Amino acid sequence: MENKKIPYKIYLEESEMPKEWYNVRADMKNKPAPLLDPETLQPMTAEGLSPVFCEELIKQELDETTPYFEIPEEVRNFYKMYRPAPLIRAYCLEEKLQTPAKIYYKFEGNNTSGSHKLNSAIAQAYYAKKQGLKGVTTETGAGQWGTALSMACSYFGLDCKVYMVKCSYEQKPFRREVMRTYGASVTPSPSTETEVGKKILLEHPGTTGSLGCAISEAVEAAGNLEGYRYVLGSVMNQVLLHQTVIGLETQTALKKYGEKADIIIGCAGGGSNLGGLISPFMGEKLRGEADYRFIAVEPASCPSLTRGVYAYDYSDTGRICPLEKMYTLGSSFIPSASHAGGLRYHGMNSVLSQLYEDGLMEAVSVKQTEVFEAAQYFARIEGILPAPESAHAIRVAIDEALKCKETGEEKTIVFGLTGTGYFDMYAYQKFNDGQMGDYVPTDEELQASFAKLPKIN
Ligand SMILES: *Cc1c(COP(=O)(O)O)cnc(C)c1O
Repeated sequence: MENKKIPYKIYLEESEMPKEWYNVRADMKNKPAPLLDPETLQPMTAEGLSPVFCEELIKQELDETTPYFEIPEEVRNFYKMYRPAPLIRAYCLEEKLQTPAKIYYKFEGNNTSGSHKLNSAIAQAYYAKKQGLKGVTTETGAGQWGTALSMACSYFGLDCKVYMVKCSYEQKPFRREVMRTYGASVTPSPSTETEVGKKILLEHPGTTGSLGCAISEAVEAAGNLEGYRYVLGSVMNQVLLHQTVIGLETQTALKKYGEKADIIIGCAGGGSNLGGLISPFMGEKLRGEADYRFIAVEPASCPSLTRGVYAYDYSDTGRICPLEKMYTLGSSFIPSASHAGGLRYHGMNSVLSQLYEDGLMEAVSVKQTEVFEAAQYFARIEGILPAPESAHAIRVAIDEALKCKETGEEKTIVFGLTGTGYFDMYAYQKFNDGQMGDYVPTDEELQASFAKLPKIN
């Protein structure tokens, strides 16, 4: 091992970027449970998925044995415009905290969409184009995914139709305009454009929407439009697969400097950035080559791992998508209009759910005001203005670094800084004005939602 002085920013060469994505399922003893058809409750086949999803993506979704998938050259060329992403040594934060811990973060905010989501958007747009499709539909919560997808679609000349969760549509008009600038059409969800949207509006008049609603609308729209398929920005295994570019680069960068992570932390909405960051390291752990602590951080307002149940559930409020076995709060759970827009999904990716069930990963939940305290602290010290989602990981990285200060342990902490928060200034404003609350669902609310889970097993 070399022992070089570690710079503030570790940049890899273009030639050191991964040429393949890593599929952690290949190394898992307990595989995640199969997707089920919502009508027959039988395992979903590739054929059953093909009216809704792109062919190549279906293969990736269902494959549990192939450890590596080649990243197509067209996708790698696009990656080169904003990757490799730097792994940053948080020297200033360490100094400020007076911790013996070493803190690193992988920064994914260096592209116009402002988050890691572009890593999967460009792959999905590529496969849609390759299949000869005309366009794609999708949902977006906070807006990062819709932005990333509209960038990717404009690059490959595809039409892009986005259903945006209504509260974000209203809170983030500039996000909407970025998407339109890249040529996408944007509809607030629930809308009256789809049957499922109309139904949800009848049942919950005045609702500010949820990812689950928007997914149902986007899926319905894809089914009704000739030459369109539905794509999505998180939760599914294909997305986690594409996001492993984050973890693979991190692994290469650490190796280059002879560093070994002890704790790896990521925020968890649907699980794609966390899964992408930890997969290669989890692979080492599963193969018995190294050990790590992995920590998923979720908002206390939407705590699917820490307070959810591990069960088959619908992925969308309208119950038209395949059923997935996952840690879930129930698909009828509509989280409060919390600002952690990108973490407001009721369930967790099935790979991460299985790893958590098997005790291979930990999870904690944090309250919104604690998250914004960490965001502000971090911005003032390290300079980057983090997305509120990313600040969940910052919060716990700081907490772990403070524990090291108490015990004197020199641990190496790595966390994912998934994006920037320039479009989240409404939330920052609330925080700066001292008007931010900490909504946490009651046990009764969760029980009411669990009671509506499908009865399968
Ligand atoms: C969407 C998003 C997340 C959460 O999504 P995952 O699929 O859980 O990664 C986290 N951070 C940012 C900046 C996001 O845009």
